[in-house]
Amino acid sequence: MPYIKVENLSFSYKDKKKKINVLDNVSITFETNKIHVVLGKSGSGKTTFLKCINGLLDYEGHIFYDDAVVDQVPIGERNTGYVSQEFALYPHYDIFTSIAYPLKINGTGVDEIRKRVNEIAKELGIAEILSRKPKQISIGQAQRASLARALIKRPTICLLDEPLSNVDYTNRQEIRYYLKKILNKYNITSIYVTHDLKEATAVADYIYLLDEGKFVAYGTVEDILFSKNPKVREFFESLKDETF
Ligand code: ADP
Repeated sequence: MPYIKVENLSFSYKDKKKKINVLDNVSITFETNKIHVVLGKSGSGKTTFLKCINGLLDYEGHIFYDDAVVDQVPIGERNTGYVSQEFALYPHYDIFTSIAYPLKINGTGVDEIRKRVNEIAKELGIAEILSRKPKQISIGQAQRASLARALIKRPTICLLDEPLSNVDYTNRQEIRYYLKKILNKYNITSIYVTHDLKEATAVADYIYLLDEGKFVAYGTVEDILFSKNPKVREFFESLKDETF
């Protein structure tokens, strides 16, 4: 299973002829089969980072999945799953069809599709909603169905961009449980971005704090919570009006 290595990654854009750096010469390695949470304030570069990892942006530097450089590999040829806060479900089709779609377009046979969709739906506790349309299921079920769709091709890497932002408190606990279970079971290396410290501590094996386009701290949940790094303390200070 792959680890992900990022070498001298930079991303910038031009604003009135001025070059603005969003990611500034980032080098980091994400260990295999773990949930890595990239935590940072809004605007720190989290989504840009995730999009670079997934090959959606033109960046400087190099990204490796295991020892293979993937800079020139188009997104469709990378074995990654992507989950965002928007539910990836077709409004007019049943949930089975939405989950099955990535297999259908790569030519998987009907019996195999049925087997795989039923299996993952069972894993995620949504077997009973496969014949329903998106408007007939709860938000928590919709996000679990989106997760099933992202993982149906059994990717070795899963990239998650604030996946629980649109999910209420009760459903969040439930989805976190299923998320951790399935990422572990399928040996997936995942990068999960969020601005929410509570979210980060609930799902992470490791946390990486991103500040103005640079990683300023990383470690286990405990390392980060008890860190004396001034950048970590500053980040916590910025949350002091939020309940934890
Ligand atoms: P985060 O996900 O941490 O909120 P983003 O990666 O979305 O941060 O964006 C980081 C910063 O870079 C934001 O201020 C955003 O507006 C800016 N940015 C990123 N890409 C561009 C672009 N192509 N043009 C203009 N601004 C951009």
